[in-house]
Amino acid sequence: MRPAGLDAARARMVRDLARRHPGCEPRVLEAMARIPRHPFVDEALWGRAYDDEALPIGYGQTISRPSTVARMTSALGVGPEDRVLEVGTGSGYQTAVLACLAGRVCSVELLPALAVRARTILDRLGLPGVEVRPGDGSLGWPERAPFDRILVTAAAAEVPRALLDQLAVDGSLVVPVGRGDGQEILLIRRTGPEAWSRRTLEPCRFVPLRAEAGGRSA
Ligand code: SAH
Repeated sequence: MRPAGLDAARARMVRDLARRHPGCEPRVLEAMARIPRHPFVDEALWGRAYDDEALPIGYGQTISRPSTVARMTSALGVGPEDRVLEVGTGSGYQTAVLACLAGRVCSVELLPALAVRARTILDRLGLPGVEVRPGDGSLGWPERAPFDRILVTAAAAEVPRALLDQLAVDGSLVVPVGRGDGQEILLIRRTGPEAWSRRTLEPCRFVPLRAEAGGRSA
């Protein structure tokens, strides 16, 4: 598809998201109108880059559906001053959307090849304030903590303890939890130094959050 066709497809994608998901934040939709999605997938898939579907990105992983990105990011409620941790960089598309909204984005990806590729694409788009590193994101990024917002884009069996600990007081964590067909997205808020509230948002289907040896969970 030609660049003009991709621009038109992106504008149409955002209009459809606004119509089908009226709860989405306008700021999030504006970010998705700005960030092209096709550079994050193989060129053979560019014709489908603005359809509302997950697409393969290699290594058995997928780029999340645009509606999932829009809904999770809206639920997270990111502000311009926020420091955000993303667990599961994958393609880097969600990272780019977060970078449009937040002051600082720290993203951790288990598979080094994906981390390198995402970083390359993000650099090419020229988004400031983004760091990507390979590693087990279920352990968070202690050197960069605390985080105002944490977004996990792979499904955890249980909410990783390190992420609860690295969340700032009054901060929010959006995380898919569960296995196979039984997954749901949780919105967790840290309400005090030792207090967290949790609310179930909706059913979902994500690839599993895999822990390296030694990962702790709560
Ligand atoms: N937001 C990404 C989603 C990618 S799928 C996108 O839209 O492109 C989830 C990603 O989480 C995969 O790339 C997978 O390798 C990664 N992942 C799985 N377990 C992880 C872990 N423990 N730490 C960091 N990344 C992990």
